[in-house]
Amino acid sequence: SWSSSDSVISTDSAGETAETGSPYRVVLLGANGVGKTAFASIFAGAADSMDSDECELCGGEKTVTLLDTWDTESDDEWAQERCMHTGDAYLLLYSITDRASFLRASELRIILRHFRPAQHTPIILVGNKCDLVRRREVSVSEGRACAAVFDCKFIETSAAMQHNVWEAFHGIVRQLRLRRDSKEA
Ligand code: GDP
Repeated sequence: SWSSSDSVISTDSAGETAETGSPYRVVLLGANGVGKTAFASIFAGAADSMDSDECELCGGEKTVTLLDTWDTESDDEWAQERCMHTGDAYLLLYSITDRASFLRASELRIILRHFRPAQHTPIILVGNKCDLVRRREVSVSEGRACAAVFDCKFIETSAAMQHNVWEAFHGIVRQLRLRRDSKEA
């Protein structure tokens, strides 16, 4: 589903502040049904109405491209590889109501480590659907512990309630900037 569900957020609409240079690519990874499309459509919907302040949050002079990725269960290795090479940063999603998706996130982290051996590729582990409290299968502390093992940040979100979605996005942009600044220093 690479091309059909590609979702692009571009701060170009905010115009003049954008400079040339390749945009950051933030890739959404995760099992089917965890909320990648819901996440991407929140960002895509916001792109049109972004003002320059938000553009600043999105990485200032660079645009941010969000890719809602391939069907991770399809075993399409070519698409998988392309996805793993494409990103500057990754939001690794699971659903707190689906333990299998949590295990899948671990697998994806390991695959990602293989393709991106560099230590500093920003990754945030995202436990989505935190509004579905009664159907919770993965505790907050399990999510946090998993992120500690992965050496990445952790956040729980609800795309349905639009809770913490932007926090996750701003978190990844912050990490991209830190990395850029330390490269330039
Ligand atoms: P994808 O396969 O990862 O792209 O998942 P989708 O974005 O298509 O979401 C799968 C289903 O979960 C859809 O019915 C969404 O409406 C629903 N969904 C996504 N995020 C949330 C959330 O945060 N809370 C709830 N309750 N439902 C969600």
